[in-house]
Amino acid sequence: MFKAGCHISVAGGYAAMGRDALSVGANTFQYFTRNPRGRGGKTPSPADVAALRQIMEENGFAPALAHAPYTYNPCSADAEIRAYTREAMAGELRMLEQLPGSLYNFHPGCHVGKGTEAGIAMIADLLNGIVTPHQSTTVLLETMAGKGTEIGGRFEEIRAILDQVKPEIQHKIGVCLDTCHLNDAGYDIAGDTDAVLAEFDRVIGLNRLHAVHLNDSKNPLGARKDRHEKLGEGTLTLEGIRRIVCHPLLADLPFYLETPNELDGYAAELALLKEMRA
Ligand code: FE
Ligand code: FE
Ligand code: ZN
Repeated sequence: MFKAGCHISVAGGYAAMGRDALSVGANTFQYFTRNPRGRGGKTPSPADVAALRQIMEENGFAPALAHAPYTYNPCSADAEIRAYTREAMAGELRMLEQLPGSLYNFHPGCHVGKGTEAGIAMIADLLNGIVTPHQSTTVLLETMAGKGTEIGGRFEEIRAILDQVKPEIQHKIGVCLDTCHLNDAGYDIAGDTDAVLAEFDRVIGLNRLHAVHLNDSKNPLGARKDRHEKLGEGTLTLEGIRRIVCHPLLADLPFYLETPNELDGYAAELALLKEMRA
């Protein structure tokens, strides 16, 4: 089964996300657990989450991908932000047990000057504090563009975080590969897909890869910028997108669009991807 979906707004509640996903021809989707740039936001009602679960089961959905808000930073210089991040992420992982088998993706963080090594230790410490061996959710570190002091722009940085995670929760931590971020970080995922996946396998291990964010990029290779583009309208080109989507090593993974689109644009891009995979 080709698992493909797009980013869906949580503004209308959880069951509404399932209906929106169906309306664009998706069989999975990604959503922000709460307002991506703010704090607070309400916890969904158990009835709303159960209604989403029913829609997903009835329609044979693959597990959805919950994305942590951008305001979280496990390696902030501010202890209060670190504590807030930890508490909020722990709460979201508890909530996600209502949607068994979920994926939960987060940006590793920005070390804001204290250095990559110190940042990596803080990220691993956060994971060691909140991830439990028997939770049903798999937590994913997202590959980043490497802008500013962002950690995760190099595969080696992701590897270093994984290396510091406790053995008993290793199987609950994986990676989400973002094609725009890889391009902007200098990995030519569209032009030389084979080589980049081989490098990923060598440094991280393809067995740790659980999801792909499929985006074109407004920026040239290695720009370290992170600006998503619609499929085929950016640096990756449609041919590059096709190489990624049809790559045998990625065949079983779920793909999530985070392109600058409304629902109708996502429907068109999903139709295009299904055609590529047909
Ligand atoms: Fe992201
Ligand atoms: Fe992404
Ligand atoms: Zn991005």
